[in-house]
Amino acid sequence: MKRVFLETYGCQMNVADSELMAGVLQRAGLELVDRAEDADAVILNTCAIRENAEQRVLGRLGDYAHLKLANPALIVGVAGCMAQHLRAKLLDRKRVLDLVVGPDGYRFLPELLRRAAGEPVAEVRLDRDETYGDLEPKRGPGVRAWVTVQRGCDKFCTYCVVPFTRGRERSLPLADLVRQIEHAAAEGFREVVLLGQTVNSWREGTDDFADLLRAVGTVDGVRRIRFTSPYPTDFTPRVIEAMATTAAVCEHVHLPLQSGSNAVLKRMRRRYTRERYLEVVGELRQAIPDITLSTDIIVGLPGETEQQFQETLGMVTEAGFDDAYTFKYSVREGTPAERIVDHVPEEVASERLQRLIEMARLQTRQRNASRVGQVHEVLVERPAKRGHLMLARTRQNFLVLVDVPRDCVGEYRRVRLTGTTGSTFTGALEHPALVVI
Ligand code: SAM
Ligand code: SF4
Repeated sequence: MKRVFLETYGCQMNVADSELMAGVLQRAGLELVDRAEDADAVILNTCAIRENAEQRVLGRLGDYAHLKLANPALIVGVAGCMAQHLRAKLLDRKRVLDLVVGPDGYRFLPELLRRAAGEPVAEVRLDRDETYGDLEPKRGPGVRAWVTVQRGCDKFCTYCVVPFTRGRERSLPLADLVRQIEHAAAEGFREVVLLGQTVNSWREGTDDFADLLRAVGTVDGVRRIRFTSPYPTDFTPRVIEAMATTAAVCEHVHLPLQSGSNAVLKRMRRRYTRERYLEVVGELRQAIPDITLSTDIIVGLPGETEQQFQETLGMVTEAGFDDAYTFKYSVREGTPAERIVDHVPEEVASERLQRLIEMARLQTRQRNASRVGQVHEVLVERPAKRGHLMLARTRQNFLVLVDVPRDCVGEYRRVRLTGTTGSTFTGALEHPALVVI
């Protein structure tokens, strides 16, 4: 068994976990390949956050069942949240599977793969101490380094499966993080994204997230720092001050709201009210006047009334979101919300989601239209999907199409925003365009 193909589903934390797994596998002498057809083992790194995420993976396992007919020695593994969520049940259900490994078992991956060649293996123990802080990931291509600074979650929102699939909250040691980020910067990564389920509650001894931001901000070559996802009420004045005074911290925050109704927030066991959330928004805007905000919102939690949904719609304008990721509630086995019985009918939830999407889109379009004409510094990321233009990003997280050569990836330019499709912008180089660093 020599060659492994890793396929990643879900959030940025899974992308970071796949890079961690890639590092573990390479150090054990295994080769990573780009196609399942060329592999001796396939590992799907999965997500369990909503039912459709799990359905996609089950569908994909069907494809691998076919591949296995042609190559019976192929090892097929499922890693990540879905592995932890469905555990050994997966091994029973899908005869195609040889390995099930949860988020705390990646250190042992080479050994697990060897064992899986003989008999089906499940490694799904959660480990309160595992941070992988000492392990160097093998980062993928691009200008952005994903850096997990915290694993697990202690918030136990009633709808959410994460505390059960990823276990208790643990922070990675500051020294490990600074070392990882120094390596990433030396490898040429320009932007660092700090990852954690409630990333701003990171702490180590007396150091908190403010100290982490300041430490990362001093690493040579790191000109942009982002983080996701912060928990609204874990923003202390110290953290907001560190954001405002650390030059590399970008002027954008993804601040999950989930609902604009206090009754629903309570049923979700979110630890804030809409009023407190708006206070945090106010504190962020006061310290960082040009900050942009994006959010996550769930509609159709059991018991959500039309009036409560209206309060969520109201928050879109009141908080002034620049972008919103919207989800229809998906019941998750084993979560407290599973036991709330007054389900919102499917067609009502779908219709609310549609209304929310339309309203959020309209607001994004209007806010973006008002930005045309502004000059921004962009980091050139990659070629656009179509045409010869390149995709670049402003510090406030706007995507801009610019006409620069392909070898400008990783460079900074000054551009004037010349138009918007509603979600992305077009930009023209502003002279002097090259930002010298
Ligand atoms: N820890 C982050 C937070 O608290 O915002 C992100 C958690 S999750 C990976 C990303 C988003 O998925 C959440 O913010 C929430 O909006 C959504 N989500 C979580 N559980 C869900 C469920 N059962 N149904 C629908 N959406 C869900
Ligand atoms: Fe899930 Fe809530 Fe933790 Fe986010 S904070 S991962 S939504 S339990």
